Amino acid sequence: MINIVTGGAGFIGSHLIDKLLHNGEQVICIDNFFTGNKENIYKHLNNRNFELIRHDVVEPIFLEADKIWHLACPASPVHYQYNPIKTAKTSFLGTYNMLGLAKRVNARILLASTSEVYGDPQIHPQPESYNGNVNINGIRSCYDEGKRIAETLCSDYRRIHNLDTRIVRIFNTYGPRMLPNDGRVVSNFVCQALQNKPLTIYGDGSQTRSFCFVDDLVNGLIKLMNSDLHDPVNIGSNYEFTIKQLAELVRKKTNPNLEFIFKPLPSDDPLQRKPILELANKELLWEPTTSLENGIDYTITWFKKIIQEDL
Ligand code: NAD
Ligand code: UDP
Repeated sequence: MINIVTGGAGFIGSHLIDKLLHNGEQVICIDNFFTGNKENIYKHLNNRNFELIRHDVVEPIFLEADKIWHLACPASPVHYQYNPIKTAKTSFLGTYNMLGLAKRVNARILLASTSEVYGDPQIHPQPESYNGNVNINGIRSCYDEGKRIAETLCSDYRRIHNLDTRIVRIFNTYGPRMLPNDGRVVSNFVCQALQNKPLTIYGDGSQTRSFCFVDDLVNGLIKLMNSDLHDPVNIGSNYEFTIKQLAELVRKKTNPNLEFIFKPLPSDDPLQRKPILELANKELLWEPTTSLENGIDYTITWFKKIIQEDL
């Protein structure tokens, strides 16, 4: 089985590649290394089942494959807002090119979409049937609307060309291999704590997220790819925490003397987020199994190593 993983040098993509190779599959990793890290895939370079192609998905590519895992897209607000027009191009043209490739070689394709398609949700928790509350013109729109049009393209390729598509709406995922500078809350808090810096809480910290450990997420992606579900599926954790609770947990696990500093809440920052997981539970027999306590421990251990190596 030949798998293409776009964005395979990134955080989630590299964990997915580890698992696919472990399962004896062949993998072609496509990445432009915008937020990808060669260290994440370095260990596979001598594996005969692994190939690496530096390529930007906004350009077409001609390859053979049975399954395409389309993850290429920056995911952290800091990175996707760095060049929002490029982010929109990556979402639209990148997905268009990968759907075209899937159609040409008759491959199954999974799109990594996001809980951001729900925007700042007015329905809580969020079922897949919720159409969302997304600002069209805000600083997060390049990403949110980019993923929405990517989903639309997938659904139209399925309707018009009978393409074998899967759409996963990923909720906040964390774990080893997040970039220390990517600005996401888990990597920020853990790196700040390990350097004895105050934890930066945006707003009053009452906004919520539901944090899923990366291994759980990857198991969900594989179950979804191997299922026959064509409609979007939420994958994530349904344990909801305020950002202040997360800060308290990181402080408890690292240094009880750490201070918090409060900074302005970025615009359009969703106030709450938690998936309804009924579809994944029932149809994929999937649920997250790693508690935030344990997942944060694994993440702290990993960042400790990274920070020490950098010193
Ligand atoms: P990441 O930034 O670590 O990985 C993205 C990868 O895509 C990187 O390796 C990057 O270099 C590559 N990439 C970006 N633009 C590209 C382009 N134009 N051409 C080729 N490669 C390109 O992010 P991640 O957290 O691993 O996210 C992976 C996917 O999952 C993304 O599509 C993201 O939108 C989605 N997702 C992630 C989360 C999360 O919490 N991590 C939540 C929702 C959705
Ligand atoms: N956040 C924070 N401090 C940080 C980084 C993020 O309080 O140093 C907040 C951010 O405003 C948001 C939440 O944490 O409310 C999650 O942010 P992240 O960028 O990780 O994910 P997203 O907003 O895309 O869900």
